[in-house]
Amino acid sequence: MVKPKTEEEIELLRENAILVSKTLAEVGKRVAPGVTTLELNRVADEFIRDNGAIPSFLGYDGFPAALCMSVNSTVVHGFPSEYVLKEGDILSVDCGTLYKGYNGDSAYTFPVGEVSAETRKLMDVTKASLYKGIEAAVAGNRTGDIGYAVQTYVESFGFSVVRELEGHGLGREMHEEPGVPNYGRRGKGTHLVEGMVICIEPMINAGDKAVYLARNGWEVKTCDHRNAAHYELTVVVRKGQAEQLSTFDYIEKDGKIKF
Ligand code: MG
Ligand code: MG
Repeated sequence: MVKPKTEEEIELLRENAILVSKTLAEVGKRVAPGVTTLELNRVADEFIRDNGAIPSFLGYDGFPAALCMSVNSTVVHGFPSEYVLKEGDILSVDCGTLYKGYNGDSAYTFPVGEVSAETRKLMDVTKASLYKGIEAAVAGNRTGDIGYAVQTYVESFGFSVVRELEGHGLGREMHEEPGVPNYGRRGKGTHLVEGMVICIEPMINAGDKAVYLARNGWEVKTCDHRNAAHYELTVVVRKGQAEQLSTFDYIEKDGKIKF
């Protein structure tokens, strides 16, 4: 039985969610050809600390940076590096904060300059599938309803859902129960109860669903080397409609990223 959060806890999670959302926007402003992912990591690390929080990914199970920076065929958990972003790349940025004892966790996939129409489609469908998942995150449903909503939407476009990784509960720990898979069957899985705080994060491949773990033990990559996209938001399960804690508004409303 997963314990729902109190409204006081939800307010602390909201503060984290807003900080993570703003951090992603700070990074997004600087995503461009010629920039290294290490430079972007530095921006986020500094922004998070300037706001009195700690980048929670740094040191998590030995992870070496504030952000996960996953380029093109890297699905998630990429290391920031000296890699220089180039026109047509896509960059998934996953950000976590620890503030007042609670966690924030959200992710966004940015285009680097102009991307191909096929890549644009992958990004759009992945993001839309996240909102389909959020629509299903209501009290009385189960985690399988979220997974089903994401999976059916994504597969209708011929894209595939990564099975090895999933969303999760969020609270004092970055990864709490329940697991929130991006595939599944309606009416199966953990019951969703009002006040549960969960991260929904579809990881979607342009080609086959198969992934492998890189030799560094972290980076998850597509076996067919085609692109993958990843978007993540934190929501509170409510009756009738989930309440979003994190948001992409800071990223999308500054006019730089066109949708
Ligand atoms: Mg994340
Ligand atoms: Mg997460």
